[in-house]
Amino acid sequence: MSEPAEPSSLQRLWWALGKLRCPACGEGKLYTGWFDMHETCPSCGARFFRWEGSWTGPTVMGYTSGALVAAAVGVGIHSARGLQDGDQWALIAAAIVGALVPFHRTKAAWVWTLHRTGWVFRDGDHGTIKGRSSGSAPPLKRA
Ligand SMILES: [Zn+2]
Repeated sequence: MSEPAEPSSLQRLWWALGKLRCPACGEGKLYTGWFDMHETCPSCGARFFRWEGSWTGPTVMGYTSGALVAAAVGVGIHSARGLQDGDQWALIAAAIVGALVPFHRTKAAWVWTLHRTGWVFRDGDHGTIKGRSSGSAPPLKRA
């Protein structure tokens, strides 16, 4: 009997971005609340972030999306009537909204990216989750 087909990278991307589920198994939820994520998948045990620097990617993505939205609002206000004193509060609000609205998706995209590059796997497995290859990391041979 043949093994089930390996989920495609696009399917894993859908699990993470579309359903906010673990990109390794597609079952465990990524988030415990609005801001908090599980450290490991509640279903398969894959660890989502392995080192403190793991947060750099989603942080940069959040700042970038906030800055882009604030810039777009600034250009819109400037085009409509010119920037005036007090408009900074609209730009600040736009930046906060621009960073928070895509928050879950940017972190999910980052977890998917880490999985794709072999950094999301169950502790001790070094790249193999439920017999599936995890991204590009080669599975360790078991003794
Ligand atoms: Zn999982």
